Amino acid sequence: MQLQVADIKEYGTELQIEQAVDQYPILAQLAEDEGYVFLTPVQVTVSASVVGGVVELQGTLRLDVEIPCGRCLVASRYALEGQFHQSYVDELPNITGEDGEELELSAEEMGLEVFDGDAIDLTEEVQQQVLLLLPTHPLCSEECKGLCIECGADLNRESCRCQNQKVSMHFAALKDFKVEK
Ligand SMILES: [Zn+2]
Ligand SMILES: [Zn+2]
Repeated sequence: MQLQVADIKEYGTELQIEQAVDQYPILAQLAEDEGYVFLTPVQVTVSASVVGGVVELQGTLRLDVEIPCGRCLVASRYALEGQFHQSYVDELPNITGEDGEELELSAEEMGLEVFDGDAIDLTEEVQQQVLLLLPTHPLCSEECKGLCIECGADLNRESCRCQNQKVSMHFAALKDFKVEK
């Protein structure tokens, strides 16, 4: 997702961009490895303006995704919505300290991102924002009982026999136990 800096007007430019999830490597990976189903493209609205050589971006993003429950694997739908703000420069400014010495500050320390050439690539920023919005421990419900580790039964819908079997095996062992006289 490229934003041409020359297109940004001094008083601000508003852009709406939709980009398929497979354009974002980390999200595509989640779809492949974790069974995430992205139901919409990533919808981004960006307000951009240039203030004193600094490109200021305010963005909102929307995305619907189905994520499998971490315990029972049943998918739930999440409507993600978030906002971000980022400042970009094509060259880091020189900052001098009180003693006139030039300070060596990284872009991160200045809260800036550096862009090369004439365009700002928003892919990484948008991808990181989506990751922040994703649930860290997706569950269909807090009370989800998960799957039986023995037989794989969905314990929210059925109670399997594994639990009973363990108990009866325990008694079977006791039955053979003979007390020495
Ligand atoms: Zn669940
Ligand atoms: Zn079971």
